[in-house]
Amino acid sequence: MEKWAEIFNLPLPECKKCGICCLCASPSKSYGELLEKAAQGDGFARDFFSIFIPYKNHDQARKICGSIVERVLKSRGEDVVFYRCRHYHFEKKCTIYNERPNLCREFPGSPLVILDENCAFYEWSQKCRESYKKLEKELEELKNRKKQLENTKYRKKCIDLLCRLKRSENEDYRFILTVPAMSIVSPGWSWIR
Ligand code: SF4
Ligand code: SF4
Repeated sequence: MEKWAEIFNLPLPECKKCGICCLCASPSKSYGELLEKAAQGDGFARDFFSIFIPYKNHDQARKICGSIVERVLKSRGEDVVFYRCRHYHFEKKCTIYNERPNLCREFPGSPLVILDENCAFYEWSQKCRESYKKLEKELEELKNRKKQLENTKYRKKCIDLLCRLKRSENEDYRFILTVPAMSIVSPGWSWIR
């Protein structure tokens, strides 16, 4: 996230510690994939299962964080599992704050993550996305410009080549004209007998 903040000159906001992300996690990997990764020793997957437990169904998650559930389902389809953290307490908030895993410390990790509108990073992520799109558009324009320049260079090469051909054609033409002229001046020299 620091890289995004630095590149787009958008300072990172302060987390409000509202706990929405603790109550409504929806990783991009499926439950099965995450389990497999955890079994293979993947650090993120292990940390994830050490704190998160899945909601029984979408309605249960909707009751806690309806807005983000709808947005995630709309964007990623119905096949998403939502989780809540076993260490979150509605009054005390995070009960293991000083020992929380890296995935919590680094959240949201990227502005491309779907965030609740009340998350402190929401506005920041929207601005990053806008700047990213702008940069992408500029890059596309630069690529087109490069192509145009290459075409111009190619065209210039073709014109050069044509000029050279024309020049050599003229030389051949002059040579063809010269032979009969020489045969008149000096018949012994002539190729046309
Ligand atoms: S460990 Fe703490 S910060 Fe991390 S998800 Fe749970 S409650 Fe939130
Ligand atoms: S939802 Fe955003 S503001 Fe709230 S605790 Fe999570 S990161 Fe912080």
